[in-house]
Amino acid sequence: MARILIVEDEEKLARMLELELRYEGWATDKSFDGPSGLSKALSGEFDLVLLDVMLPGLSGLEVLRRLRREEKSYTPVILLTARDGVTDKVAGLDMGADDYITKPFAIEEVLARIRTALRKRETRQQPAELLTAGDLVMDPEGHILTKGGEPVNLTRREFDLLRFLMEHPNRVFTREQLLQQVWGYDYVGETNAVDVYISFLRNKVGSRAIETVRGVGYILRT
Ligand code: CA
Repeated sequence: MARILIVEDEEKLARMLELELRYEGWATDKSFDGPSGLSKALSGEFDLVLLDVMLPGLSGLEVLRRLRREEKSYTPVILLTARDGVTDKVAGLDMGADDYITKPFAIEEVLARIRTALRKRETRQQPAELLTAGDLVMDPEGHILTKGGEPVNLTRREFDLLRFLMEHPNRVFTREQLLQQVWGYDYVGETNAVDVYISFLRNKVGSRAIETVRGVGYILRT
């Protein structure tokens, strides 16, 4: 039985969510403010956290940031955001939220998003498969990359970008496709972010690992 933590200061809403989630067969607990939500989330007892952004004590985004920094094993987080909270959504996904739901929401949507996040988590827990390209070896689950046997330190974004290319070798991707796949569907920004990160990656893993296809985009050949 999956255990889900609800962090939401609107107590009526939190109780409604709790009833619905329990009805689905999940175990739940709830917190009404940021600090207690964070400490419960860090307990490692939960398979998923539903996290409101506007919370007393600590904002949901700050809870998320600290959780990602301190947690020992990865806990999926779905943010509950205000309708006009575009920057919250972008910041949240950037900080490692798995998904977000805009308030007001239909409970069916919440249940569907939870099922999806829990399914992804199960896939993540299966034994790691290694990706290789030339002298690069990546363990996607362990977040480890080696080049010729030597570890290479990548930021989360660099890692995600390289991972996507290594999962789809020998295919050309446009900047827009890479933005959508790696940065996410709601990313607002310039496509030259892709160029910037490709050059970061080339500096770390070698300039020939990723080729530029002039006028089109990028390809990683194996
Ligand atoms: Ca709130």
